[in-house]
Amino acid sequence: MEVEALVLTVNLVLTSNADASGITSQPSIPVQLVQIVIAMFVMDTWQYFVHRYMHQNKYLYRHVHSQHHRLVVPYAIGALYNHPLEGLLLDTFGGAISFLVSGMTARTAVIFFCFAVIKTVDDHCGLWLPGNIFHLFFQNNTAYHDIHHQLHGTKYNYSQPFFSMWDKLLGTHMPYNLVKRPEGGFEARLKKD
Ligand SMILES: [Zn+2]
Ligand SMILES: [Zn+2]
Repeated sequence: MEVEALVLTVNLVLTSNADASGITSQPSIPVQLVQIVIAMFVMDTWQYFVHRYMHQNKYLYRHVHSQHHRLVVPYAIGALYNHPLEGLLLDTFGGAISFLVSGMTARTAVIFFCFAVIKTVDDHCGLWLPGNIFHLFFQNNTAYHDIHHQLHGTKYNYSQPFFSMWDKLLGTHMPYNLVKRPEGGFEARLKKD
């Protein structure tokens, strides 16, 4: 019984912003925005290192991460086509750590997680449509992640889902060109090719 009470207390301390009367007060909008930005940096950092390790460790790549890389040409529904262990390590743990470090409430977390999922789906959609705000605001976007899925690009552009800072800092950033195809649309091509 005591253990249960302790687990419950730890759980509440970690995941609840409620006061003694059980009422959660929501922070102001600017504070929530700062929390979201912190969560974005934390999630990116977690995902970069775990993702890169899954490429470097041959066992993990062969048995876990290679499932996601069956998508050489990504499409939206394949965004979270992952081995369950990858879902747990990258997304569940990454999400939990971003949530806990940022100190956001559950309500802010709903917005943040929806945003992260929509961004991930867009990064895999394989479409470069005009006016896509993700493409305007994020250097790490559909074309950027498309390079990572190409056969010659798998050792580059590990950063996901928001920024490209870790690739740039640690030398895994691959610039690319968007080349117009005669039959319509674009092709993301590694600059070194
Ligand atoms: Zn990968
Ligand atoms: Zn992917």
